[in-house]
Amino acid sequence: MCPRGRSKIENFEEMDFSLMKKIITDCSDLSFTPLVHFSGYGEPLAYPEIQKAMQLCNKRKLKWSVNTNGFFLEKYAEDFVINNCSHITVSVHGDPLEHDKTTGVNGSFDKAFRGIIELDQVKKRLKKRAPLIAIVCVITNNNVLNLKNILGTFMKAPVNSITFEHTFFTPDDIEKRSDFLIREEDKLNRLIEFIEFIEYTKNPIRVYMFPKIEKRDIIGYYTDKDYKFPESCIVPWLSVAIFPDGDVKFCNQFLVGNLKNDSLKSIINSREATKFRDLVRKGKLSMLPKPPSCFRCCFRHYC
Ligand code: SF4
Repeated sequence: MCPRGRSKIENFEEMDFSLMKKIITDCSDLSFTPLVHFSGYGEPLAYPEIQKAMQLCNKRKLKWSVNTNGFFLEKYAEDFVINNCSHITVSVHGDPLEHDKTTGVNGSFDKAFRGIIELDQVKKRLKKRAPLIAIVCVITNNNVLNLKNILGTFMKAPVNSITFEHTFFTPDDIEKRSDFLIREEDKLNRLIEFIEFIEYTKNPIRVYMFPKIEKRDIIGYYTDKDYKFPESCIVPWLSVAIFPDGDVKFCNQFLVGNLKNDSLKSIINSREATKFRDLVRKGKLSMLPKPPSCFRCCFRHYC
């Protein structure tokens, strides 16, 4: 749950399939094999051409994955398996009540769970181990006191891992006391207890916290905007985001090129991209063009 994801989507656009085809082809022409990850501001499985995109990734022998709210999982379960999807991350906001309230769709929790079960059954039927299935749950002020119960509910699903994610926010969110943000010290202490619980409990399914933050730094992470964390991140060397209009951006917001004019290879090696990476390499995260971005970004290193 990042600040950009929480904002209303304006000027909603769908990627033209000819551009999708160019991206997938560009990816398969690189000297290394990247992971193509379908994610974004909307729900990737609502993209009308998603089935063709899956088939093309498979045909070009690319490793690919999806981040989804699970609503269309049942519909595409077989496509994921036969097209060799590597992993699927299903975002769930908490227990059924909390999830349905957050999505605004009654029954969306049950639908996502039915999708996970269907996917598992297709994998078994076709004797495939992939895709690996992960549940990700963002920790908020609304679900923080219920994390153990939520974990118990998730444990009933046939998944390979469960991740609880610290939310991404800006200094403004601390100042404005945004609703989703955990502020009270007793709630933060309960969160620390939960982290201890998953560290010391042997669970049948792998359970992770993301990003990794030391327990002693949790209160600083959530409440102190001047708290000092390391200024390091390796994400701009590992990924770029591609938008429906062909814009290529680091961290979803720093524009480095457009695929309608250039190839992916030339964009990721461009002067703009190198300049950006230089600032990150020198630990100057606060000097990036849009400074609050790294503040509590989930990809930054906090230890
Ligand atoms: S920490 Fe900064 S550079 Fe790294 S991914 Fe986040 S926004 Fe980008």
